[in-house]
Amino acid sequence: MSGTVLVTGGAGYVGSHTAKALAAAGYRAITLDNLSRGFAHAVQWGPLERGDILDRDFLDAVMTRWRPQAVLHFAALAYVGESVSDPARYWRNNVVGSLTLLEAMRDHGVGRIVFSSTCATYGLPVRLPLAEDHPQAPISPYGATKLAVERMLADLDPAHGLRSVALRYFNAAGADPAGELGENHEPETHLIPLAIGAALGTAPRLKIFGTDYPTADGTCIRDYIHVTDLAAAHVAALGYLEAGGASTACNLGTGAGLSVRQIVTEVANVAGRPVPADEGPRRAGDPPELVADPARARQLLGWTPRCSDVASVISTAYAWSTRQRLRNAP
Ligand code: UDP
Repeated sequence: MSGTVLVTGGAGYVGSHTAKALAAAGYRAITLDNLSRGFAHAVQWGPLERGDILDRDFLDAVMTRWRPQAVLHFAALAYVGESVSDPARYWRNNVVGSLTLLEAMRDHGVGRIVFSSTCATYGLPVRLPLAEDHPQAPISPYGATKLAVERMLADLDPAHGLRSVALRYFNAAGADPAGELGENHEPETHLIPLAIGAALGTAPRLKIFGTDYPTADGTCIRDYIHVTDLAAAHVAALGYLEAGGASTACNLGTGAGLSVRQIVTEVANVAGRPVPADEGPRRAGDPPELVADPARARQLLGWTPRCSDVASVISTAYAWSTRQRLRNAP
């Protein structure tokens, strides 16, 4: 595989791991990122074009300079809570920004896109595991903005021949096993880095959001997928489109769920010390269980998770957090 691809949001968590995987697969990966949430130090496998997907002149200049054969589109705001308090910002950035990008692709003749979508487009599950034909009824503005882009993609293919794969991530987790990349959200809201931070004493005591769910141990169940597996799925989706594959959407998950308590137990095992934690009320908008049916990604993309067992997820995330702590030490 070879050629030039544009990676919007390539300085972020999943985008940077994917840029590394693309380079390993022989692509020239051009990162386009405004660095509002990403980090320049995460762009290590190709040039960084610093700018905004809302800036059409900038997109024109980048596409003229690099002539990408495809786009991998990660750039988005991705906090569910923030999307509730500031929905207009999410609609502008995630939807108007994506539309601006798609119009630029159409006008520059770039006919393939892999889009970062989310299981949040499904909303509350009516059946589990979630397959791609499950009704999409998001319950947050974040999920609604991602669904809106999926709908745009569905309309642009028949009109302009712009083929797409929308990848619906479940819970992205873990860090690059080689230790070159990891999760750096500011602020951090995700369970695994917060549990690790609590164990290391770099974050406050963990709050467990709800212990009265109708699950085996009373806490929420999620499908955690290693970021390296997500990256591999993007490379596979690009290959699928390059081989002439039709537009589609695929879940990216393992098909197996883990509870909040199971995660906390594994963090304590890996850290070799307890995770200081308090049990609290449910967080608004959290369904009891979200687990993927990953069959379509296996069939169409030939993709299966390779390092998403809980030990690999937690140990790579832990190694990254300890390295960050050393780096931040006075
Ligand atoms: N969670 C928790 N405490 C936290 C953060 C998350 O108990 O400080 C729970 C949350 O309710 C959910 C699971 O951990 O059931 C995963 O949440 P996260 O925010 O990591 O990902 P999400 O599922 O919201 O995408």
